Amino acid sequence: MPAKRRKPATRTRRPKSEPRFIEGIHHYCDRWCERCEFSHRCIKFTLTEEICGTGSAMRDGASQTVFDALSRVFTEARSEIERAAKKNTAEDEETLAAGVAVEKRLQRRALHVGSRETKAALTYAHMADEWFNNELKLPLQRVRDLERRVHQGLVSVAFAKGELVRLNDCVESIRWYQHLIYVKLCRAFSSRVEETEDRQTGPLDSDGSAKVALIALDKSIEAWTALQSIFPEKTDSVLEILVHLDRLRTATTKRFPKARRFKRPGFDEKPPRKPKKR
Ligand code: SF4
Repeated sequence: MPAKRRKPATRTRRPKSEPRFIEGIHHYCDRWCERCEFSHRCIKFTLTEEICGTGSAMRDGASQTVFDALSRVFTEARSEIERAAKKNTAEDEETLAAGVAVEKRLQRRALHVGSRETKAALTYAHMADEWFNNELKLPLQRVRDLERRVHQGLVSVAFAKGELVRLNDCVESIRWYQHLIYVKLCRAFSSRVEETEDRQTGPLDSDGSAKVALIALDKSIEAWTALQSIFPEKTDSVLEILVHLDRLRTATTKRFPKARRFKRPGFDEKPPRKPKKR
């Protein structure tokens, strides 16, 4: 289970030096930066762009690759670790070992507390893989069928394009959220264990993470339903997946009843009012 937990800000603050960034927005998003309407207000996105140098590299015609950027990050991280290691005293090491032991204990408890839901999420990820492995030919057949119908004048080019976009959207969405559900549920349960021990109150990371899992479940259900309408002959196999997802959504909602009300920075905030023109 992912170990890092955080305490969500009780209100959204903007760093004074960088007012355009929304603090903590990347903690409760679906990581689909390509489709994110807030990428220009996300510090994580901006830093990733800076490290990978995509924008500037394209402008300068430089040939920097993601591997170059990763190598730079690893070199910097290694120097940091070496510097920190030099500073470490025996006392620090004892504290570190105690911290690791606590973390392991929390993770074991989290695995136990959320085992039903996380196992179901993992099963879903395998079910989706299996479906695509077995039915790989379906999307190809659909493309060929549309091509044929366009040539025969049975449907317009615009209609065929629309259908292909719809199919592509379904597949992309299913594939994107397929593993995110498991990751976010693991995080939600792992945070819950820590919050219970610390008796935390207020907006909880467990609810925020569960909300992202629930949104991923909603989008996956939506995409499978659309896929079912595109391939009506596959209703049985899709229905099995839909039932599994729906049960998991119900179970998650029961375990995290406040999750839907969690306010995610940026995404669940009202846009600021524009000043009235005089
Ligand atoms: S907030 Fe948007 S841009 Fe930032 S990491 Fe999440 S999806 Fe990507």
